[in-house]
Amino acid sequence: MSVLVLNCGSSSLKFAVIDPRTAAQPVAGIAQRLGSPEASLDWKNGGEKHSRALPGAHHDVALRAVVDLLRDLGLLDGLVGIGHRVVHGGDEFASSVPITPEVIAKVEACIPLGPLHNPPNLVGIRVSQEVFPGLPQVAVFDTAFHQTMPPVAYTYPVPYEWREQFGVRRYGFHGTSHRFVARQALAQAKLPADDHALVTAHLGNGCSCAAVRNGRSLDTTMGLTPLEGVMMGTRSGSVDPAIIGHVASANGRSERDVIDALNKKSGLLGVSGISNDLRAVEEAAAQGHERARLAIDIFCYVLAKAIAALVVPIGRLDALVFTGGIGENSVTVRARVVEHLGFLGLALDPEANGRHGRGQDGRVTTSVRPQALVVPTNEELLIAMDTAEILHRG
Ligand code: ADP
Repeated sequence: MSVLVLNCGSSSLKFAVIDPRTAAQPVAGIAQRLGSPEASLDWKNGGEKHSRALPGAHHDVALRAVVDLLRDLGLLDGLVGIGHRVVHGGDEFASSVPITPEVIAKVEACIPLGPLHNPPNLVGIRVSQEVFPGLPQVAVFDTAFHQTMPPVAYTYPVPYEWREQFGVRRYGFHGTSHRFVARQALAQAKLPADDHALVTAHLGNGCSCAAVRNGRSLDTTMGLTPLEGVMMGTRSGSVDPAIIGHVASANGRSERDVIDALNKKSGLLGVSGISNDLRAVEEAAAQGHERARLAIDIFCYVLAKAIAALVVPIGRLDALVFTGGIGENSVTVRARVVEHLGFLGLALDPEANGRHGRGQDGRVTTSVRPQALVVPTNEELLIAMDTAEILHRG
């Protein structure tokens, strides 16, 4: 029994076949540069990497190539369903749902909120309905986990009518990752399911933190869009919105251009001038590059401030969870953030941190309550688990 997990972006299609009971993943890959002459299908199975050119392929051709691949690998007949990552569910979806025409209509209605993500997500759903007509399909939303936020956390202090008229409120993202690592953290840190207070920090190219009390998200750093919150690879995170008008008029650029720069040319890349990739910025900083150092200083400072603020909704801190490429791998970022947060009772264990918490259930602090711990995320597995559970419920 396995689930095909699909994540369609504007020019890519990520896929994985996962057994939700064992987490076994016999094949995973990505069709990328779709729509260009360089389009390709790259995958990994049995520990080996493979690649196939798909010149000019769009999502439909790519998905058919995935089907051929699964057939060749003998994985097609074992599929029980397909789980789709859908980025923006607005306030329509508080959990994963079986895909029906009504669900598709609601995801379409959320396009203004997720203009870059929802259209390719919908293409993935439509194409896979064509390619797998008999297979049940499930939508798993990035926003759903945060639907438990109370109005005080999701309402912006702006004219109240904007909420009704334009859907202006905090939605939050990375919900699948926050939900997955919060659940894992309970087992690793031995916390009770009905009484815990966590801050989860998902630090990848995009970064967000969430305040989780007893399994429910009570607040998060990303907002109407993923631009808000902490500093990221190319996104600024929260800045004075007046910057937009100021730079636009000073520079003769449109506000849309400035917002684009806040999304794509800011963050680690913008400050360091080197890269959006933390590894490259860390290397430059180690060689004395001033702006690279400043970029890391700001990254850790802003992150620590955001984490401290998220203790307000949960009332106390039992555990700070690090995940994502940076959270799982950067010894420096974890050390700096934990040091900033010493006043909460977190005390770094430099040796354990150097080992990414291996050998002590991910814990990188000498303090146990509160503790900071590393929990590897696995969004695909949670999508597969949700899909299997929904199919099981029938
Ligand atoms: P995405 O959000 O695209 O899934 P990832 O979760 O893979 O991204 O995270 C990518 C980030 O993780 C990059 O900034 C990368 O530099 C960082 N990263 C990965 N490995 C390391 C490492 N060993 N040390 C520091 N940063 C790392």
